[in-house]
Amino acid sequence: MNPFDYHAPTSLQETFDLLNTYGEDAHLMAGGTALVLLLQQGLVQPGHVVGLQKVAELKGIRRLDVGGLQIRAMATHREAEKSAEVQAYCPALVENFAHVATIRIRNQGTVGGNLAHADPAQDPPPMLIALNGQAVIASRTGERRMPLDEFFVDFFETALQPGEVLVSIDLPPLPAGTRVTYKKFLPRTQDDYATVSVAAALRVGAGGTCEDVRVALGAAATTPVHARKVEDALRGQRLDAQKIKDAAALVRDEVDPLDDLRGSAGYKREMARVWTQRALQELLDASA
Ligand SMILES: Cc1cc2nc3c(=O)[nH]c(=O)nc-3n(C[C@H](O)[C@H](O)[C@H](O)COP(=O)(O)OP(=O)(O)OC[C@H]3O[C@@H](n4cnc5c(N)ncnc54)[C@H](O)[C@@H]3O)c2cc1C
Repeated sequence: MNPFDYHAPTSLQETFDLLNTYGEDAHLMAGGTALVLLLQQGLVQPGHVVGLQKVAELKGIRRLDVGGLQIRAMATHREAEKSAEVQAYCPALVENFAHVATIRIRNQGTVGGNLAHADPAQDPPPMLIALNGQAVIASRTGERRMPLDEFFVDFFETALQPGEVLVSIDLPPLPAGTRVTYKKFLPRTQDDYATVSVAAALRVGAGGTCEDVRVALGAAATTPVHARKVEDALRGQRLDAQKIKDAAALVRDEVDPLDDLRGSAGYKREMARVWTQRALQELLDASA
């Protein structure tokens, strides 16, 4: 590993100042689970590493006034998995965090680090997109927000600009009656990355009509995929098994998987259809 200077700011302002001083030669570190591997492989070679562990404004998980949830960037996966606030907001989100790697990694890796790393096979991104999350991003010049499905730009690439820090992910209130699920297809080992994953949120009204639906997939393209065609085919429709099967089939046109050791692109495309159908059918059955 190339030598670097390590900085441990205690506030966001100090963090911004360091990023401004060292520019492109600085790299943020949260839990370090992904970054240390990149440093060891020489894929990033910063002269200055800015550790976020002591930045108080980046810590914690809290309910928002209107009934939403805020997960600050330095919350670990384990903290989120054990959080009473997350449980009260959406039990399926607790399960989602419990799917990340092993307890050891979950104790160290952070939610902000996971999103900023932007590996398309990670678990929280599709779930947080299905929950309509907003990324809150700050820099010396102020704060900006963007829907999480716009945050992921390409393979391991986000909309974060030099000098910016991901501060939190904010989730809006879940309307009453919304059911949520996360399906991680893991044909190899339980602590593996997904071959394909599907997160879905469904609200069914009187008479079985779909009032709202959100579907997002992981490991199905170079970024998480927000499956808008599937959603459009269901919203406002009276739902039954055939409608769900037909809508899930549309996901094949929305994903663009990569061939890798977890399967061929063709296999993953088919698994995306299968697991989208299963997730939505499970939510419809639970709504009956
Ligand atoms: C063995 C192993 C198995 C894994 N399995 C899974 C799995 O099954 N599912 C899954 O979802 N993930 C898995 N992961 C990935 C893991 O979730 C991520 O490594 C972790 O969440 C990254 O968080 P971190 O805090 O360690 O980030 P770091 O490694 O510290 O940082 C990662 C990147 O994000 C940037 N960054 C960090 N915080 C911020 C911020 N606040 N603002 C801007 N940029 C920031 C850093 O500069 C760096 O580029 C696995 C990782 C390992 C090592």
